[in-house]
Amino acid sequence: MTLTGSMQGNPPAAAPLHMIDILRKKRDGSALHEREIQFVARGAASGVIPDDQLAAWLMATWIRGLSLDETRALTLAMRDSGARFAPRNLGKRTVDKHSTGGVGDKTSFLVAPLAAACGVAVPMISGRALGHTGGTLDKLESIPGYRTALSLDEFEAVIARCGASIIGQTGELAPADRKLYALRDRTGTVENPGLICASILSKKLAAGLDGLVLDVKTGSGAFMRRNEDAEFLASLMVVTAESAGARTVALLTDMSQPLGRAAGNWIELMECVELLRGARPASSPETNADLRELSLILAGWMIHLGGRAGTPEAGYTLAEAALTDGAALAAFFRMVDAQGGDISVFDDMKAYHQPGATLELAAWESGYVAEMDTTALGWAVQRTGAGREKAGEPVDPHAGILFHARRGARVERGQPFATIYATNQEMLAEPAAILKEAIRFSKTPPDPAPLVRSVFTRDVAEKHLKGTDR
Ligand code: URA
Repeated sequence: MTLTGSMQGNPPAAAPLHMIDILRKKRDGSALHEREIQFVARGAASGVIPDDQLAAWLMATWIRGLSLDETRALTLAMRDSGARFAPRNLGKRTVDKHSTGGVGDKTSFLVAPLAAACGVAVPMISGRALGHTGGTLDKLESIPGYRTALSLDEFEAVIARCGASIIGQTGELAPADRKLYALRDRTGTVENPGLICASILSKKLAAGLDGLVLDVKTGSGAFMRRNEDAEFLASLMVVTAESAGARTVALLTDMSQPLGRAAGNWIELMECVELLRGARPASSPETNADLRELSLILAGWMIHLGGRAGTPEAGYTLAEAALTDGAALAAFFRMVDAQGGDISVFDDMKAYHQPGATLELAAWESGYVAEMDTTALGWAVQRTGAGREKAGEPVDPHAGILFHARRGARVERGQPFATIYATNQEMLAEPAAILKEAIRFSKTPPDPAPLVRSVFTRDVAEKHLKGTDR
């Protein structure tokens, strides 16, 4: 395809651009100019560039990488590929949280209502399952009737009424990400810092945020498994978002095991609503105390960036009060109801849970749960039917895996280790086999992994980027 560009940059504004030239340039390792990157983002959004060329571009980009300038240009071009959300009547600061992706990563269902209950407006634009990780939208759609595609006017109206709204990338907002996100999922091109940065920030910046809290995962279930790669990604995103005008902080958090106990769709919502209803899990390796704690920390930062607390710690205290007094639960139900969801399914959450087949998997060894290959666990969850094999396929709302023992827990052979919920009997064996491969037991307890490893504010992130040779 050929288009005549009209933007600034090099090659000259009048020169026609050809996707084949851009592909060959990237394949051969040269950095692209801003105008070429804008050409790709616009072509992805409009559908003018066909999928085969976009897929080739993604693979070349994954292999060759993106420079800091290219990452920034791609982020802004993808942000500008559609409309911008510019709420007129909220009268509050808007703050969101986004995770780089993990297994059982469900904090959105807690932090959005927690921050909303504390007076922050939360316009949250989320994604579907990507690679081995689950998708917030897929999980929300396990609530009958919940609409993840709202017009921008409806989005604003829900936020005005409920304090928070969670929707997906639309034809209007960040359409280039919608296209590229789905293609990356199918072409093995997810785990690249520049592509992750542009994907996340394009939709966050299109939502016109005042503040953004990034939950950057590190460990065996993260796209960036190594700490130094996660630190680079955190710094890249903070610096890129800040330079585009959003006050941003990134927390590097543990993904050496699934977050909480549930990984799937409806079972993750059940777990969150139990916490919103006031469950106080004891701090032990069998419980989901990690999910509660991380959600309060993230919400604390959101409340702080939203101007409702002088420090993130004070924000944490406010968030915990909103959890305890039921204000966050009420905000969650208001939002679900406003987006068409049937909240009566929460009356008896277990009765609504109707998996096609169930397997109680007993521990196959005795010892301490020492290591989890959490990426493999994510694929096991996908194979239950909770994720999709091909783009556009429906997911099974009731499929997933509930873990009874987590990293650091002592188990005896034969005791319940996990419950696997699959679409049908035939789909139970593969996840069970993956689990047995993915978990290692030891005679002594493993070192505990800190929930939050470090915090990247703008200064920290700038310093970190200067110190890297990427
Ligand atoms: N979340 C996104 O929206 N995009 C990514 O690339 C990874 C996580």
